Amino acid sequence: MKFDANCIFCKIVAGQVPCTKLYEDEDVLAFLDINPVTYGHTLVISKEHYSTFLSTPKAIMNKVMNVAQRIGQVQIEQLGAKGVNILINSYEAAGQVVPHFHVHVIPRYTAKDGFRLEFKELKDVNLPKVAEEIKDNL
Ligand code: AMP
Ligand code: ZN
Repeated sequence: MKFDANCIFCKIVAGQVPCTKLYEDEDVLAFLDINPVTYGHTLVISKEHYSTFLSTPKAIMNKVMNVAQRIGQVQIEQLGAKGVNILINSYEAAGQVVPHFHVHVIPRYTAKDGFRLEFKELKDVNLPKVAEEIKDNL
């Protein structure tokens, strides 16, 4: 199993750093974010060290997403959340601070509960050109 001795999440997996654990199996660990943006903010991670979502093998990614879905359901059923944001930051430019694959499961109580993702419109984009750049390489 890939382990990075300098990685805070690898240290959590190894039990070298404590966490508030919610779920664990062979491949996946879920625990509360130490700096929650809302009540119940959870991280679901692969136990093995993969630096981003984009470099995580599909089988592991699927297992992590399965747990993230269940956590979101329970946040609604048990915490009284009215919605859930699933957030995966990949690379620094996207706000990733810990380079170990993790999914944020953020329960939402109102649209103004303290967490906000701003979708600011980018003007004058040539959509067919962008599509061209992407779709032929899928
Ligand atoms: P990201 O910006 O997507 O890399 O998010 C990393 C998240 O990890 C942040 O929300 C941090 O609050 C959280 N975090 C960092 N260290 C710990 C830790 N030791 N235990 C729990 N959560 C942590
Ligand atoms: Zn790691």
